[in-house]
Amino acid sequence: MSLTIMRRIKFCAGHRLYKHGGKCEHFHGHNYIADFFVSGENQDSVGRVMDFSHLKSKCKGWLDENWDHSFLVYEKDQNAIEALQMVKPSRLFLMPYNPTAENMARYLLEEVCPKLLSDVGAVATRVRIWETDESYAEAAIDSRGDLVMSSFDADSADR
Ligand SMILES: [Zn+2]
Repeated sequence: MSLTIMRRIKFCAGHRLYKHGGKCEHFHGHNYIADFFVSGENQDSVGRVMDFSHLKSKCKGWLDENWDHSFLVYEKDQNAIEALQMVKPSRLFLMPYNPTAENMARYLLEEVCPKLLSDVGAVATRVRIWETDESYAEAAIDSRGDLVMSSFDADSADR
């Protein structure tokens, strides 16, 4: 049996979608919501998968330090990197792929969570990034350990 808990963290960030061809290739930002789903086979002596406050401090700590009030930029988007570096102080975070909500969820799930949760007996199995109230993208690990990406959009809203 596997038990799952979820912690929601809010943050603000700017981005643009490199070579998107539409309005999302302009600099803009979102009030993001990140939902971290953490699963474990075992409960601690109190009956928890892990302490919610511990999960919050780890996830919020990383987001505060890296993405909150930062610009998320694709590492190949040299034009955006140069522009942002002209601003003092500038805060940008380079991503190995375009900073879509899907890829942000994937990055948190694959790159960040394993390090944050390395010392607890639980693993992140799903990360959902809400870019608006009506749309989210998520990355999840299925029962075979494979990455599954999906998204939801209430009314095909722009992003
Ligand atoms: Zn956007």
